[in-house]
Amino acid sequence: MRAHVDTEAVVALTSALVAVDTQNPPGNERPISDAVHDALARWRPVWTEVEPEPGRLSLVAELPHPDGPGDRPTLIVNGHLDVVPVIRDAWTYEPFAPTVEGGRLYGRGSADMKGGIAAAVCALDVLERAGRVPACNLVFHLVADEEVGGHVGTRALLERGLIKGDACLVPEPTSMQLCVAERGLLQGYVTVHGRPGHGSRPKEAVSAIEHAARLVVGLHGAEFGEGEHPLLGRPTCNIGTIQGGNGLNVIAETCRFGVDRRVLPGATAEGSEAELRTRIDSLGVEGLRYEFDLKVFGEASELPAGDAFLDHVRRSIVAATGEQPDVVGMSFTTDARFVRNGAGVPAVVCGPGDVAQTHAVDEWVSIDRLIDATAAYAELYAAFS
Ligand SMILES: [Zn+2]
Repeated sequence: MRAHVDTEAVVALTSALVAVDTQNPPGNERPISDAVHDALARWRPVWTEVEPEPGRLSLVAELPHPDGPGDRPTLIVNGHLDVVPVIRDAWTYEPFAPTVEGGRLYGRGSADMKGGIAAAVCALDVLERAGRVPACNLVFHLVADEEVGGHVGTRALLERGLIKGDACLVPEPTSMQLCVAERGLLQGYVTVHGRPGHGSRPKEAVSAIEHAARLVVGLHGAEFGEGEHPLLGRPTCNIGTIQGGNGLNVIAETCRFGVDRRVLPGATAEGSEAELRTRIDSLGVEGLRYEFDLKVFGEASELPAGDAFLDHVRRSIVAATGEQPDVVGMSFTTDARFVRNGAGVPAVVCGPGDVAQTHAVDEWVSIDRLIDATAAYAELYAAFS
């Protein structure tokens, strides 16, 4: 298949997608609709638009099979159209005017994950040039909002019953390694209350800052005593923000800090919050008064052990590149969780971008890797039956 990859076409499509500014927040995927329609138009898909909020567009494209309807499995390709915001002054390259230089394509979203989407689309042309047809039915989910939790993107598709398939490829950046598990997250704020008093007599009141400091030391980087996942390691805890106090000469009445827990498959919002509270209680801070305000919970997910789809993707990569990919876990979450946990569809995350480039200044994707991905996805479409 590699010989049939049109490198210029993959680079051109990646560039066309990167050129549309879809920074999230604020989130505005509607303007990329034309580029997505143009990319798939030749395959005459049946389009479904989902726009839960104005401008927050996700597209489902069902491709009719060249041999007509038939009894084949359905493969979903799920890719997000939004990108993380750019700090423009920090960039050497223009984030939304893609540049090709030294075997790389620079631009926001090139690695995460417009390059992966372009490869998945161009794989259709590769298959045609090779004189082959897909062994499966193909559906593209090109979605909004992944970068801030996917609520008006893949989750909206799930809620509308639109995630229907036998397997799902998510071409997020993995350097073409096979990611089969990802950690979940629990994020929220702990607000500690003290009893204010005069700053000249610190022992005569209760400092919220002193209590919070003891909690921060006890939580940041701490092991909560849970088990270890073979690919995901142990859960982690980061204290990402802190604010407190009312003035230099006042014993602090309140102090608030932000908790970022990464959790393993099976963890629930309630269970994870309870573990946090148990950990806080175990620190033995006398007279402690606090509350926890949960902001985000995203569940962890994993491909069931022994699922046959993993071997399909692995064989496709080996056939396209001659390289044996590693099976890995991810320390962060993707929309694969909605597909795996919500829709019960096995999903493998595997794409051409390098995870080190995600959200980075001067983000780039390797053009060689784009070619690898395009060829590997063509192999997968030809073989998944
Ligand atoms: Zn991504």
